[in-house]
Amino acid sequence: MSRSVLVTGGNRGIGLAVAQAFAQAGDEVALTYRTGEPPRAATELGCLAVRCDVTDAAQVEQAYKEVETAHGPVEVLVANAGITRDQLLLRMTEKDFADVLDTNVTGVFRVVRQAAGEMVQARRGRIVLISSAVGLLGAAGQTNYAASKAGLVGFARSVARELGSRGVTCNVVAPGFVETDMTKALNDRQRAAMLGRVPLGRSAQAEEVAAAVRFLASDDAAYVTGAVLPVDGGLGMGH
Ligand code: NDP
Repeated sequence: MSRSVLVTGGNRGIGLAVAQAFAQAGDEVALTYRTGEPPRAATELGCLAVRCDVTDAAQVEQAYKEVETAHGPVEVLVANAGITRDQLLLRMTEKDFADVLDTNVTGVFRVVRQAAGEMVQARRGRIVLISSAVGLLGAAGQTNYAASKAGLVGFARSVARELGSRGVTCNVVAPGFVETDMTKALNDRQRAAMLGRVPLGRSAQAEEVAAAVRFLASDDAAYVTGAVLPVDGGLGMGH
């Protein structure tokens, strides 16, 4: 049965691969973009593109209304939008720290809170948050990002406890090194160092993350909540 799916930050990278995976499975998919024209990929996939900056609660509310009007209340929410502002601790500005937390944690809070009301009423819903292996491993130069991604685990587990009795699950996917714009910024030395720590010896394709998200939103994962599913080639083993 087709479901109403919303993917934040769905215009490129992992979010786009997730939107594509749900659309190809026959779901009604809405994806968000921040600026400019609706992404061409959305039209090609038959997805609804809604403008939304997750740092703005009014835009989140407006985007949700548009999705609800077009596809009905969101049944599967994938909170994927995220940013990095890397810098060593001693040089990290308060703004760079706060901006990452605002997008990666408070942004997730805004979209989850928006979607949760209808899910509770319907007594069913699937929430999947995109965290990172870095959230549990830590990474030099990423105190802000690691703090934000670790924060999602506590957030998800709290949501799982609050909403479990209403048939709503909340899980986390923790990707390792995925080939997207975000990791293009790494130089060859950083890339080699990172891949050297991955038992599978390669980076992931965004589609491999999308497959894990789809699993957590599927009937097969009906009894899975509060879980952190690594998709990291073994990078974070032992978490
Ligand atoms: P990209 O940089 O390729 O894409 C990030 C997406 O988030 C874009 O769609 C971007 O929109 C959107 N976004 C950023 N800020 C906001 C905002 N304030 N409001 C709405 N949308 C926003 O990153 P990836 O695809 O690589 O990453 C997706 C998620 O996966 C992120 O949460 C990231 O932290 C996580 N992740 C990525 C890994 C990797 O190796 N690539 C590894 C582990 C986790 P816009 O196009 O407008 O900028």
